[in-house]
Amino acid sequence: MARGFVIDFKGKCVVVTGGNRGIGLAISKAVAQAGASVAIIYRSSKDADQVASNIGKEFGVKTKAYKCDVSDADLVNKTFTKIDDELGPITGLVANAGVSVVKPAIEMTTDDFNKVFTVNVLGVFNSARAAAKLWIDRKHQGGSIVITSSMSSQIINQTGANEPLTQIFYNSSKGAVSNLCKGLAAEWAAHNIRVNAVSPGYVDTDQTAGMDENIRKYQANNVPLKRFAKPEEMTGQTVLLLSDYASYMTGGEYFVDGGQLIW
Ligand code: NDP
Repeated sequence: MARGFVIDFKGKCVVVTGGNRGIGLAISKAVAQAGASVAIIYRSSKDADQVASNIGKEFGVKTKAYKCDVSDADLVNKTFTKIDDELGPITGLVANAGVSVVKPAIEMTTDDFNKVFTVNVLGVFNSARAAAKLWIDRKHQGGSIVITSSMSSQIINQTGANEPLTQIFYNSSKGAVSNLCKGLAAEWAAHNIRVNAVSPGYVDTDQTAGMDENIRKYQANNVPLKRFAKPEEMTGQTVLLLSDYASYMTGGEYFVDGGQLIW
Protein backbone atom coordinates (compact mmCIF):
# COMPACT_ATOMS: atom_id res chain seq x y z
CA MET A 1 0.00 0.00 0.00
CA ALA A 2 1.30 3.48 -0.89
CA ARG A 3 2.31 5.52 2.13
CA GLY A 4 1.70 9.23 2.59
CA PHE A 5 -1.09 11.73 2.36
CA VAL A 6 -1.64 12.21 -1.36
CA ILE A 7 -3.93 14.76 -2.96
CA ASP A 8 -4.33 13.93 -6.64
CA PHE A 9 -6.46 16.35 -8.72
CA LYS A 10 -5.90 14.56 -12.05
CA GLY A 11 -9.12 14.88 -14.08
CA LYS A 12 -10.32 17.85 -11.98
CA CYS A 13 -10.75 21.43 -13.15
CA VAL A 14 -10.50 24.30 -10.68
CA VAL A 15 -11.46 27.95 -11.33
CA VAL A 16 -9.46 30.50 -9.31
CA THR A 17 -10.75 34.08 -9.38
CA GLY A 18 -7.89 36.54 -8.94
CA GLY A 19 -5.66 33.56 -9.72
CA ASN A 20 -3.01 35.54 -11.58
CA ARG A 21 -1.24 37.19 -8.64
CA GLY A 22 -0.87 37.20 -4.87
CA ILE A 23 -2.66 34.52 -2.86
CA GLY A 24 -4.67 33.42 -5.92
CA LEU A 25 -1.51 32.79 -7.95
CA ALA A 26 -0.09 30.59 -5.18
CA ILE A 27 -3.39 28.65 -5.14
CA SER A 28 -3.41 28.31 -8.96
CA LYS A 29 0.08 26.81 -8.79
CA ALA A 30 -0.80 24.48 -5.91
CA VAL A 31 -3.87 23.00 -7.63
CA ALA A 32 -1.89 22.67 -10.89
CA GLN A 33 0.88 20.89 -8.99
CA ALA A 34 -1.75 18.46 -7.67
CA GLY A 35 -2.72 17.75 -11.31
CA ALA A 36 -5.86 19.85 -11.96
CA SER A 37 -6.58 21.97 -15.02
CA VAL A 38 -6.73 25.58 -13.88
CA ALA A 39 -8.88 28.45 -15.15
CA ILE A 40 -7.57 31.78 -13.93
CA ILE A 41 -10.07 34.63 -13.77
CA TYR A 42 -8.64 38.15 -13.66
CA ARG A 43 -9.94 41.66 -14.18
CA SER A 44 -7.31 43.78 -15.93
CA SER A 45 -3.71 42.56 -15.50
CA LYS A 46 -1.80 42.53 -18.78
CA ASP A 47 0.27 39.40 -18.06
CA ALA A 48 -2.47 36.94 -17.01
CA ASP A 49 -2.21 34.89 -20.26
CA GLN A 50 1.52 34.52 -19.74
CA VAL A 51 1.06 33.61 -16.06
CA ALA A 52 -1.44 30.87 -16.99
CA SER A 53 0.78 29.55 -19.75
CA ASN A 54 3.81 29.40 -17.41
CA ILE A 55 1.85 27.42 -14.82
CA GLY A 56 0.67 25.00 -17.52
CA LYS A 57 4.23 24.42 -18.70
CA GLU A 58 5.66 24.08 -15.20
CA PHE A 59 3.15 21.47 -14.02
CA GLY A 60 2.10 19.82 -17.31
CA VAL A 61 -1.62 20.64 -16.98
CA LYS A 62 -4.15 22.60 -19.07
CA THR A 63 -4.41 26.24 -17.98
CA LYS A 64 -6.06 29.32 -19.41
CA ALA A 65 -6.67 32.91 -18.28
CA TYR A 66 -10.16 34.41 -18.63
CA LYS A 67 -10.71 38.18 -18.39
CA CYS A 68 -13.92 38.63 -16.41
CA ASP A 69 -15.08 41.17 -13.86
CA VAL A 70 -16.65 39.02 -11.13
CA SER A 71 -19.12 41.77 -10.25
CA ASP A 72 -20.87 41.27 -13.64
CA ALA A 73 -23.25 38.33 -13.10
CA ASP A 74 -24.03 37.71 -16.80
CA LEU A 75 -20.39 37.77 -17.79
CA VAL A 76 -19.51 35.43 -14.91
CA ASN A 77 -22.18 32.92 -15.98
CA LYS A 78 -20.96 33.03 -19.61
CA THR A 79 -17.32 32.71 -18.57
CA PHE A 80 -18.00 29.66 -16.35
CA THR A 81 -19.90 27.97 -19.21
CA LYS A 82 -16.95 28.67 -21.53
CA ILE A 83 -14.46 27.31 -18.99
CA ASP A 84 -16.62 24.22 -18.49
CA ASP A 85 -16.54 23.60 -22.28
CA GLU A 86 -12.85 24.37 -22.78
CA LEU A 87 -11.13 22.97 -19.66
CA GLY A 88 -13.90 21.28 -17.70
CA PRO A 89 -16.01 19.84 -16.40
CA ILE A 90 -15.37 22.29 -13.56
CA THR A 91 -15.08 20.47 -10.22
CA GLY A 92 -13.90 23.23 -7.88
CA LEU A 93 -13.94 27.00 -7.41
CA VAL A 94 -11.71 29.24 -5.33
CA ALA A 95 -13.57 32.57 -5.06
CA ASN A 96 -10.53 34.60 -4.13
CA ALA A 97 -10.68 37.96 -5.98
CA GLY A 98 -10.91 40.83 -3.50
CA VAL A 99 -10.18 44.54 -3.17
CA SER A 100 -9.87 47.12 -0.42
CA VAL A 101 -10.15 50.88 0.03
CA VAL A 102 -8.06 52.31 2.85
CA LYS A 103 -9.11 55.68 4.24
CA PRO A 104 -10.79 56.97 7.39
CA ALA A 105 -14.45 55.92 7.79
CA ILE A 106 -15.54 59.55 7.89
CA GLU A 107 -14.22 60.05 4.33
CA MET A 108 -15.63 56.88 2.77
CA THR A 109 -18.07 57.36 -0.15
CA THR A 110 -20.84 55.33 -1.73
CA ASP A 111 -18.45 54.64 -4.62
CA ASP A 112 -15.94 53.20 -2.13
CA PHE A 113 -18.68 50.98 -0.68
CA ASN A 114 -19.70 49.79 -4.15
CA LYS A 115 -16.10 49.21 -5.21
CA VAL A 116 -15.48 46.89 -2.25
CA PHE A 117 -18.84 45.13 -1.89
CA THR A 118 -19.43 44.45 -5.60
CA VAL A 119 -16.18 42.44 -5.73
CA ASN A 120 -15.80 41.00 -2.21
CA VAL A 121 -19.45 39.99 -1.68
CA LEU A 122 -21.40 40.17 -4.96
CA GLY A 123 -18.39 38.87 -6.94
CA VAL A 124 -18.04 35.87 -4.62
CA PHE A 125 -21.78 35.22 -4.86
CA ASN A 126 -21.79 35.51 -8.69
CA SER A 127 -18.86 33.09 -9.00
CA ALA A 128 -20.28 30.58 -6.50
CA ARG A 129 -23.72 30.64 -8.15
CA ALA A 130 -22.27 30.21 -11.65
CA ALA A 131 -20.41 27.09 -10.51
CA ALA A 132 -23.37 25.75 -8.53
CA LYS A 133 -25.71 26.23 -11.53
CA LEU A 134 -23.48 24.04 -13.68
CA TRP A 135 -23.28 21.37 -10.98
CA ILE A 136 -27.01 21.41 -10.21
CA ASP A 137 -27.97 21.36 -13.93
CA ARG A 138 -25.55 18.49 -14.55
CA LYS A 139 -26.91 16.52 -11.58
CA HIS A 140 -23.46 14.98 -11.14
CA GLN A 141 -21.49 14.43 -7.97
CA GLY A 142 -21.40 18.05 -6.76
CA GLY A 143 -18.37 20.26 -6.22
CA SER A 144 -16.33 22.24 -3.72
CA ILE A 145 -16.22 26.03 -3.33
CA VAL A 146 -13.58 27.73 -1.22
CA ILE A 147 -13.97 31.45 -0.54
CA THR A 148 -10.95 33.54 0.44
CA SER A 149 -12.36 35.64 3.27
CA SER A 150 -10.11 37.25 5.91
CA MET A 151 -9.45 37.20 9.64
CA SER A 152 -11.06 40.62 9.49
CA SER A 153 -14.41 38.83 9.21
CA GLN A 154 -13.98 38.43 12.99
CA ILE A 155 -11.76 41.28 14.12
CA ILE A 156 -11.15 44.82 13.00
CA ASN A 157 -7.67 44.91 11.52
CA GLN A 158 -6.24 48.23 12.50
CA THR A 159 -4.13 49.68 9.69
CA GLY A 160 -3.02 52.80 11.56
CA ALA A 161 -0.31 52.34 14.21
CA ASN A 162 -1.05 55.52 16.14
CA GLU A 163 -4.74 56.03 15.50
CA PRO A 164 -7.34 53.47 14.41
CA LEU A 165 -7.80 53.27 10.63
CA THR A 166 -9.81 50.19 9.85
CA GLN A 167 -10.67 49.74 6.13
CA ILE A 168 -14.26 49.82 7.32
CA PHE A 169 -15.91 48.53 4.13
CA TYR A 170 -13.30 45.80 3.64
CA ASN A 171 -13.82 44.51 7.19
CA SER A 172 -17.60 44.59 6.81
CA SER A 173 -17.44 42.88 3.40
CA LYS A 174 -15.41 40.01 4.85
CA GLY A 175 -17.89 39.63 7.73
CA ALA A 176 -20.65 39.48 5.12
CA VAL A 177 -18.89 36.93 2.94
CA SER A 178 -18.20 34.60 5.85
CA ASN A 179 -21.93 34.53 6.58
CA LEU A 180 -22.70 34.18 2.86
CA CYS A 181 -20.53 31.06 2.94
CA LYS A 182 -22.68 29.49 5.66
CA GLY A 183 -25.92 30.33 3.82
CA LEU A 184 -24.75 28.88 0.51
CA ALA A 185 -23.43 25.77 2.29
CA ALA A 186 -26.86 25.25 3.85
CA GLU A 187 -28.79 25.77 0.58
CA TRP A 188 -26.56 23.61 -1.60
CA ALA A 189 -25.69 20.76 0.77
CA ALA A 190 -28.53 18.72 -0.73
CA HIS A 191 -26.69 18.92 -4.09
CA ASN A 192 -23.43 17.74 -2.49
CA ILE A 193 -21.91 21.18 -3.05
CA ARG A 194 -19.59 22.08 -0.19
CA VAL A 195 -18.86 25.74 0.59
CA ASN A 196 -16.12 26.78 3.00
CA ALA A 197 -14.05 29.89 3.69
CA VAL A 198 -10.33 30.24 4.32
CA SER A 199 -9.49 33.40 6.22
CA PRO A 200 -5.90 34.62 5.99
CA GLY A 201 -4.13 36.96 8.37
CA TYR A 202 -1.61 39.41 6.89
CA VAL A 203 -0.02 38.10 3.70
CA ASP A 204 2.75 39.71 1.64
CA THR A 205 0.98 40.59 -1.63
CA ASP A 206 0.22 43.73 -3.66
CA GLN A 207 -2.69 44.34 -1.26
CA THR A 208 -0.34 44.85 1.69
CA ALA A 209 2.64 46.23 -0.30
CA GLY A 210 1.56 49.85 0.13
CA MET A 211 1.50 49.64 3.93
CA ASP A 212 3.58 52.14 5.84
CA GLU A 213 6.72 50.39 7.14
CA ASN A 214 6.02 51.36 10.78
CA ILE A 215 2.47 49.98 10.57
CA ARG A 216 3.79 46.78 8.99
CA LYS A 217 6.26 46.30 11.86
CA TYR A 218 3.58 47.10 14.41
CA GLN A 219 1.16 44.60 12.83
CA ALA A 220 3.77 41.87 12.40
CA ASN A 221 4.65 42.27 16.07
CA ASN A 222 0.99 41.64 16.98
CA VAL A 223 1.03 38.27 15.21
CA PRO A 224 2.10 35.42 17.54
CA LEU A 225 4.36 34.07 14.74
CA LYS A 226 5.82 37.61 14.47
CA ARG A 227 5.66 37.96 10.70
CA PHE A 228 3.35 38.29 7.69
CA ALA A 229 2.69 35.10 5.69
CA LYS A 230 3.96 34.23 2.25
CA PRO A 231 1.17 33.60 -0.31
CA GLU A 232 2.24 29.94 -0.54
CA GLU A 233 1.34 29.51 3.15
CA MET A 234 -2.32 30.12 2.20
CA THR A 235 -2.55 27.12 -0.13
CA GLY A 236 -2.64 24.06 2.16
CA GLN A 237 -6.05 24.63 3.72
CA THR A 238 -7.63 25.58 0.37
CA VAL A 239 -6.28 22.51 -1.42
CA LEU A 240 -7.47 20.30 1.44
CA LEU A 241 -10.99 21.79 1.27
CA LEU A 242 -11.11 21.25 -2.50
CA SER A 243 -10.13 17.61 -2.05
CA ASP A 244 -12.15 14.54 -1.13
CA TYR A 245 -10.36 14.47 2.25
CA ALA A 246 -12.77 17.29 3.15
CA SER A 247 -15.90 15.45 1.97
CA TYR A 248 -17.64 16.01 5.33
CA MET A 249 -16.59 19.66 5.70
CA THR A 250 -19.01 22.42 4.72
CA GLY A 251 -20.07 25.83 6.03
CA GLY A 252 -16.80 26.28 7.93
CA GLU A 253 -14.39 29.19 8.19
CA TYR A 254 -10.74 28.25 8.70
CA PHE A 255 -8.19 30.79 9.90
CA VAL A 256 -4.63 30.79 8.57
CA ASP A 257 -3.40 33.77 10.54
CA GLY A 258 -0.16 32.98 12.38
CA GLY A 259 -2.20 32.77 15.59
CA GLN A 260 -3.50 36.34 15.38
CA LEU A 261 -6.99 35.42 16.62
CA ILE A 262 -5.55 33.97 19.83
CA TRP A 263 -5.78 37.46 21.29
P1 NDP B 1 -4.05 41.08 -4.76
O1 NDP B 1 -4.39 42.53 -4.63
O2 NDP B 1 -2.64 40.66 -4.81
O3 NDP B 1 -4.80 40.46 -6.06
C1 NDP B 1 -6.16 40.68 -6.25
C2 NDP B 1 -6.64 39.77 -7.35
O4 NDP B 1 -8.05 39.90 -7.51
C3 NDP B 1 -6.00 40.09 -8.71
O5 NDP B 1 -5.77 38.87 -9.38
C4 NDP B 1 -7.10 40.89 -9.42
O6 NDP B 1 -7.06 40.79 -10.85
C5 NDP B 1 -8.34 40.18 -8.89
N1 NDP B 1 -9.53 41.00 -8.96
C6 NDP B 1 -9.78 42.16 -8.30
N2 NDP B 1 -10.99 42.64 -8.64
C7 NDP B 1 -11.52 41.77 -9.54
C8 NDP B 1 -12.72 41.71 -10.28
N3 NDP B 1 -13.67 42.66 -10.13
N4 NDP B 1 -12.93 40.67 -11.10
C9 NDP B 1 -12.00 39.70 -11.26
N5 NDP B 1 -10.83 39.70 -10.59
C10 NDP B 1 -10.59 40.73 -9.75
O7 NDP B 1 -4.84 40.39 -3.56
P2 NDP B 1 -4.37 39.31 -2.47
O8 NDP B 1 -3.74 38.17 -3.15
O9 NDP B 1 -3.70 40.01 -1.39
O10 NDP B 1 -5.80 38.87 -1.90
C11 NDP B 1 -6.54 37.78 -2.40
C12 NDP B 1 -7.73 37.58 -1.49
O11 NDP B 1 -7.27 37.35 -0.16
C13 NDP B 1 -8.65 38.80 -1.42
O12 NDP B 1 -9.99 38.37 -1.32
C14 NDP B 1 -8.21 39.48 -0.14
O13 NDP B 1 -9.22 40.27 0.42
C15 NDP B 1 -7.88 38.27 0.72
N6 NDP B 1 -6.99 38.55 1.83
C16 NDP B 1 -5.75 39.11 1.63
C17 NDP B 1 -4.94 39.37 2.71
C18 NDP B 1 -3.57 39.96 2.57
O14 NDP B 1 -2.96 40.29 3.60
N7 NDP B 1 -3.02 40.10 1.38
C19 NDP B 1 -5.37 39.08 4.09
C20 NDP B 1 -6.68 38.49 4.17
C21 NDP B 1 -7.45 38.24 3.09
P3 NDP B 1 -6.10 41.81 -11.70
O15 NDP B 1 -4.69 41.33 -11.47
O16 NDP B 1 -6.53 41.65 -13.10
O17 NDP B 1 -6.31 43.16 -11.14
